[in-house]
Amino acid sequence: MEIRLSYTAVSTYERCPLAYRFQYLDGLEVPPSPYLSFGRSLHSALEWFYGRDVPEPPSLQELLGRLESCWESEGFADEEEERSFFRHAREVLESFYHRNRDHFRLPVAVEQRFEIPMDGYLLTGVIDRVDRHPDGSYEVIDYKTNRRLPELRRLREDLQLPIYQMACRELWGITPSKLTFYYLLINQKFSTSPRDEDSLVGVRERLTRAAEGIRSGRFPPKPNHLCPWCPFADVCPSRVKSGGLREELESRRRALLLRRRKLDLMIEELENQLREMESGSWTQKDGV
Ligand code: SF4
Repeated sequence: MEIRLSYTAVSTYERCPLAYRFQYLDGLEVPPSPYLSFGRSLHSALEWFYGRDVPEPPSLQELLGRLESCWESEGFADEEEERSFFRHAREVLESFYHRNRDHFRLPVAVEQRFEIPMDGYLLTGVIDRVDRHPDGSYEVIDYKTNRRLPELRRLREDLQLPIYQMACRELWGITPSKLTFYYLLINQKFSTSPRDEDSLVGVRERLTRAAEGIRSGRFPPKPNHLCPWCPFADVCPSRVKSGGLREELESRRRALLLRRRKLDLMIEELENQLREMESGSWTQKDGV
C-alpha cells in the first residue's frame, strides 16, 4: 500500500490513530463546518491576491469581490450565521490588505504542491506562499485562521513548518531563513528560524514512526481533549463503549455502513442527473 503523508494526516495519526483510519482509510467524511468554509474562502482569496502576473496589488474592492466569488457556503446553520462569517472574513481581508499593500511583491510560489518520496512513504502538502526578500533570503508563509493562538510548546513541536522546510530543499534546493505562521484573524506573523539537521532527523523519525504504524495496521483509539469535537465520535468504540476486539469490529462495521449510505445517496443523485440528461437529449432529438 502506498502511504501518502501530509502534515494534516500525520498530525491526525499522532493525535488518534483510529481517527486517522476513519478519515483516510475508511473514507468517512469530515462534515462541513462554518470554520472550514471560512478558512478555505480566505485561503482562496489570498491565493488570488498573490497569484498575479504583474507586481502591483489588486485594489481592496477587487480583493473583496474575489472573496465574494470564491466564498464557500457549506456548513452554516442558517443565512444569518453565514452572513456573520462573511462579514468577519471581509474585515480580516481589509486588515490584511492595509498591512500588506505597501510592500506588495510577487511571491516565488503560491499554493505550491509537493510530493516527496521518503523512506517507504510519500510526503505531500501544499505551501501557501514563499517570498523572496530583497536580500535574497526566502520566507515560507502559512496562513492560519485559528481563533486562538496555540501554546508556544505546541508551536515548537509542530511538524508543519519543518515539513515545509524539507520540501523547499527538495523542490528548489533552498533553506528558507524564516518560517512563518500568519495568523489572519489577528493580522500577526509568528516566525521561526529553520530547524538544524539534528532537529530535522527527529522530524523524519516521527514521520517514519507514523508511516510504520499505518503500514502495520495499528489504529488504536487514543482519547484526547479534542474527542468532544471529533467528527467520528458516533462510531468510535472508546466513546460508545470501552475497548475489546468485538467493539473495534463493530465500530468498523458502523463506519463502513455509514460510508455505504453516503455512497448510495451519491450514486442515486448521479443516476437522477443521468436520467435527466437522457430525457433532455430525447426531447432535443424529438424537437429536431
Ligand atoms: S472520539 Fe476520540 S478516540 Fe474516538 S476516534 Fe475520535 S479522537 Fe479518536
